[in-house]
Amino acid sequence: MQVLVVGAGVVGLAIARAAAIAGHDVVVAEAASGIGTGVSSRNSEVIHAGLYYPTGSRRAYYCPRGRRMLYEFCASHGVPHRKCGKLVVATNASEIERLEAVYKQAQLNGVEGVEIVDVATAKRLEPALACVAAMHSPETGIIDSHRFMLALRGDLEDRGGMIAFNSPIERLRPARGGWEAAVGGSEPQWLSFDAAVNCAGLGAQRLARATESYPSGRVPRLVLAKGNYFGFSGQPVFSRLIYPVPVPGGLGVHVTLDLAGRMRFGPDVEWIEREDYDVDKSRALAFYQRIRDYWPGLPDNSLVPDYCGIRPKLTGPGEPAADFMIEGPQQHGLARIVHLFGIESPGLTCSLSIAEDVVRDPRLHPRGRDHHASASRLCRRSARHRSRRQARQRHSATGGAGVREPEARAGRGRRGLPSRREVQQLSGGSRALADLPRGARQLPRCGQSPGKHHHRYFRPGARRRADRDRGSRGIAGRRTIEVGLQGSE
Ligand SMILES: Cc1cc2nc3c(=O)[nH]c(=O)nc-3n(C[C@H](O)[C@H](O)[C@H](O)COP(=O)(O)OP(=O)(O)OC[C@H]3O[C@@H](n4cnc5c(N)ncnc54)[C@H](O)[C@@H]3O)c2cc1C
Repeated sequence: MQVLVVGAGVVGLAIARAAAIAGHDVVVAEAASGIGTGVSSRNSEVIHAGLYYPTGSRRAYYCPRGRRMLYEFCASHGVPHRKCGKLVVATNASEIERLEAVYKQAQLNGVEGVEIVDVATAKRLEPALACVAAMHSPETGIIDSHRFMLALRGDLEDRGGMIAFNSPIERLRPARGGWEAAVGGSEPQWLSFDAAVNCAGLGAQRLARATESYPSGRVPRLVLAKGNYFGFSGQPVFSRLIYPVPVPGGLGVHVTLDLAGRMRFGPDVEWIEREDYDVDKSRALAFYQRIRDYWPGLPDNSLVPDYCGIRPKLTGPGEPAADFMIEGPQQHGLARIVHLFGIESPGLTCSLSIAEDVVRDPRLHPRGRDHHASASRLCRRSARHRSRRQARQRHSATGGAGVREPEARAGRGRRGLPSRREVQQLSGGSRALADLPRGARQLPRCGQSPGKHHHRYFRPGARRRADRDRGSRGIAGRRTIEVGLQGSE
C-alpha cells in the first residue's frame, strides 16, 4: 500500500518508519527543507518515564511503553542518550500533597523504580538542591533528539521510504478508495495514495480542515502554549533532571541537561495567539524566582535567553489538560486516513509506541503494483527543487562557470526518469552508509523474508482481488493502517 505521511517531525518519521518496516511504500511530505524543524527540535529532549498522565489516557499508555521502546532503539541504533534519572521536588509543605499525587499516579502507570526519598537522600544525590521532600525517578533520561530522527530516517530510507522536502500538502480528497493530495510549493500538483497520515504538528488542524469529507466538527481547537528556555552560563551543579511539582499547562520550570552536561531551565507556559519564536528576556525574572525555590544558589545574571518551543494544545488556560487525539477510521468513519492532533509532551518519548499502533498489521506486502508512481513524482519534484538550489549555489560559487545542469544528469535513468538512487541523492533522501548508525545498517531489509502474503500480491490478478477484498472491509480491515488503536486503552 502506498502511504503518504504528512510531516517529518519525530512522530511522522516514526510512523513512516513503522509503515515501511511493515512493508508499505512510504512517502513523507514535509513543507520545510529538512527533518525535525518543527516542535521536534524545540523541546527538552527528555525521555519521560510516564509519571504524570491520568489512568486510562493515551499518554499514560504510550509514555511508559514508548520510553522502553526508545531506550531499546537508542541502544540498537547508537543514538546518544543517558538514563540520568530525575527528582521531582516539593519545596514547601503545601506541595507535598501534589508530590504524593504524582507518586501515586506513577505507580498506577506502572513506572519502574519510583520512590519518595527524604531530604537527606535528595541532598546526597544533588547537594545543591533545596526541598522538603522529593521523588526519585531512575528511568527518566535524556536523548539527542536530532540523532534519533536521523536514525528513524535511516531506517525509513533503508526500506525504500522517501522524504520529499519543500512539499506542503494543502488539501486531501478521497479518490478511488484512497486519497489524493494537493502538493503546493513551486510545482503544485495532485498525487494519489492508498492512505494518508496527518502528522503535521502545529499544522494538523489546518490540514484536517482542508480534508474533503472530513467532518469539520471533529477538528479540535488549536491552542498555542509557548515554552521558553533560558541557558545557564556557569558550571552545571546538577547531574539529574530537577522538576518542581507540575503547574497548570506544563511540568514547571525545570532543570534539563544536555548530553554534554550543560544546564538549561524551562519551559515556562506562555499562552500565545500566533507562532512566534522570540524569547522575551524579561521573562528571566520569573525564572530566577521559580528556580531559587529549589536552587537558592542560582547566581544573579546567570540566565541567558535560549530558545522556545510551541505546544500544540487542544485546551486553553484554566481548562483541564487534553489527551493526545488520534483520529482514525474507527473514530471518524473515513477509510484510510489518520489525523493526529495535540501531540505535545511527551510526544517525543511516545513516538515509537504511537507509530506501532497507527501502523498495525505487519503482514502487508505492497510490492505488486504501480507502487512507485506517486512516490517517484513527489520525490522528483523535491529533487528538482533541491537540484535547482544546488545549481544556484554552484553558479554563485563558480561565478557562473562550469555549472552542469542536475536535470540533465537526472534524465539518464530508466524511461528518461531519474533512478530511485538518483532521486534520493538529489532530494537529500539518502545518506552515506558510514553516516548510518550501526544498528540501522544491520536491520533486515524489507522484502527479505516476504512470507506467504508476498506471493499473493505478486501473482497477476491477485493484487486486484486482494484490493477488492480489502475494499469490503475498509481501512480498518486487517491489512491496512488501523487507527482505532485497538487494544490500546
Ligand atoms: C516546549 C516543549 C517541550 C517538550 N519537551 C518534551 C520532552 O522533553 N520529551 C518529550 O517526550 N516530548 C517533549 N515535547 C513534545 C514533543 O516535542 C512533541 O510531541 C513532538 O516533537 C511532536 O512531533 P510531531 O512530529 O508531531 O510535530 P513536529 O515536529 O512539529 O512535526 C510536524 C512537521 O509537519 C510539517 N508540516 C506542517 N504542516 C505541513 C503540511 N501541510 N504539509 C507538509 N508538512 C507539514 C512541519 O514543517 C513539521 O516539520 C515538548 C514539546 C514542547 C513544545
